[in-house]
Amino acid sequence: MSKKDIVSNVFTGVKFHKAVRWVRAKESRFIPVLAYHRVLDLPEDYPFDSDLASATIAEFKRQMKYLKYHYSPINMSEMLAHLEGKKINKKNPVLITFDDGFKDNYTNAFPILKELEIPATFFITTDFIDKGDVLWYEKLAFVTKKTKRKVLDIRGLSKSYELKGIDSRQQVYGEIVEALKLLKNDERERILEQIFNDDLELKKELENAKIFSLPMSWENIDEMFKNGMDFGSHTLSHPVLSTIDHEQLRLELVESKKLIEEKISSEVVSIAYPVGQRESISSDVEREAELANYRIGFSYIDGVDTKNRFSIGRIHVDYNMSMSRFKSKLIIPKLFCD
Ligand SMILES: [Zn+2]
Repeated sequence: MSKKDIVSNVFTGVKFHKAVRWVRAKESRFIPVLAYHRVLDLPEDYPFDSDLASATIAEFKRQMKYLKYHYSPINMSEMLAHLEGKKINKKNPVLITFDDGFKDNYTNAFPILKELEIPATFFITTDFIDKGDVLWYEKLAFVTKKTKRKVLDIRGLSKSYELKGIDSRQQVYGEIVEALKLLKNDERERILEQIFNDDLELKKELENAKIFSLPMSWENIDEMFKNGMDFGSHTLSHPVLSTIDHEQLRLELVESKKLIEEKISSEVVSIAYPVGQRESISSDVEREAELANYRIGFSYIDGVDTKNRFSIGRIHVDYNMSMSRFKSKLIIPKLFCD
């Protein structure tokens, strides 16, 4: 348990936090935005990146019930209206968002949201939905977790990585992800293809396991949209936007927006930048997002930051997070976010 977890236990155990929430409600200076990736119960020996799981199904349900009772979940138009200085007349507004577009968003999160009548925004990587295949970094996580090889020879990077225990595999995964992030999409795809072609047994295993890491379909999206869910862009191919050239940047922003708009027959106003850390969002990226006619952009920096409408911070929700930490992060993000 981290220091912040311990403090949040004490904090939510006393009446004080009710007073703070009351002050917040009066003030509503800021709207907290929650960031989820996946909602699922991780099986033992899970072969993909478990860090992408934000909550178990039961945890998610508990969190949504809490929000339904103590907050007012709002949709993206209300968020925009608030940023434009209009009064939205909701007590304790909160915005709920999801990144990437995993299938579990539809199978696990959506039924709960629908039942509780809570709106949420889903930022989708359109190539992921279109291809219906496992994302590149999930494939890489699979390789580093499951390969029986002791040395991973990645010819495209002219580098070999030694694989020992779980920690070393995790570290190797991190190192290769960082290296692959900097490559062009087709180059990266080629490297991954080569890894699996060198190890046909692993390729077969991936085929059997990929059910755990597939995207939603456009039909799912259509159904969710018709039931009050919002959709935003998470680009075409999930690159680090600050590292790609101008033409590519424009394409990622414009084409993903256009495609979602075609599919849902409605305007897409929001984007969540892939990876979303400070170094992955340059002022150039923000300017291009505005030029591409987005009206709001979200980072993945833990906390609340609404100073710049094209770089809005979001509160991370992590797997197995305690309810007291969840509540504390919402009430005083400055203190309880990382
Ligand atoms: Zn993402």
